Amino acid sequence: MQKEKRIDTIIKNDTLSPQETLSWAYNTFGNRVSIVTSFQLEGLVIIDMAYTLKCPIRVVTIDTGRLNSETHTLIDQIREKYNLEIETFFPNHDSLNNMVSKFGTNPFYKSVSLRLMCCQIRKVDPMKQILLDNDAWITGIRRSQTITRNDITKIQKDTSYNKDKIKINPLADWTYEQVWEYIKEKNIPYNELYDKGYTSIGCAPCTRPIKPNEDIRSGRWWWEKGEMPKECGLHVGPSWGRSN
Ligand code: SF4
Repeated sequence: MQKEKRIDTIIKNDTLSPQETLSWAYNTFGNRVSIVTSFQLEGLVIIDMAYTLKCPIRVVTIDTGRLNSETHTLIDQIREKYNLEIETFFPNHDSLNNMVSKFGTNPFYKSVSLRLMCCQIRKVDPMKQILLDNDAWITGIRRSQTITRNDITKIQKDTSYNKDKIKINPLADWTYEQVWEYIKEKNIPYNELYDKGYTSIGCAPCTRPIKPNEDIRSGRWWWEKGEMPKECGLHVGPSWGRSN
């Protein structure tokens, strides 16, 4: 069967296990698929699964320049544990310089549009660069994380960046509890901020621990009360939240 047809067939099949999904991804795309991760729990599960399956893993991350030191510590632990090279993408220097010169180091607290500008420069633009060198990307997003993700499938055409790219979400139907069970069972190192009340970890100035019974993503951009979904734009595309 031609590659295109095989992809269309598999997209309709949302019953694969995470391991079957990963095996399909590597069999189909070889070294043209990457695990794109910020080293949250879900990304760690996927790296471990792919490593256990002996897949030809490529791990890619975006260093926004505003990560917690705990996240850098974890990245080093994962690099060592799995003997991985971790491809690291950074924001464009000129864009960053321009933004900080005009709006300061922490523009995101001032308005939603400035927050989206910062996410665009520090996350979304580097993501576009990552996809230039990949036909598909593997993510850790799950349906139950937030309302903007509740209709994702395990294998889908990438509607955010380029419909010719394939987006693979092996844990789409997993719960937060299942993710933790896997992490504990396999004794995988994780970001120590989780033990300090964090349930979702992004950039340091935009993430805080949550209180009991709060939504797991409520610690992200917590000051934007009810204004915007808890998204940075990586999973909804380059022009998300913008009028142009
Ligand atoms: S999460 Fe905050 S610091 Fe990070 S890119 Fe978005 S606005 Fe900027």
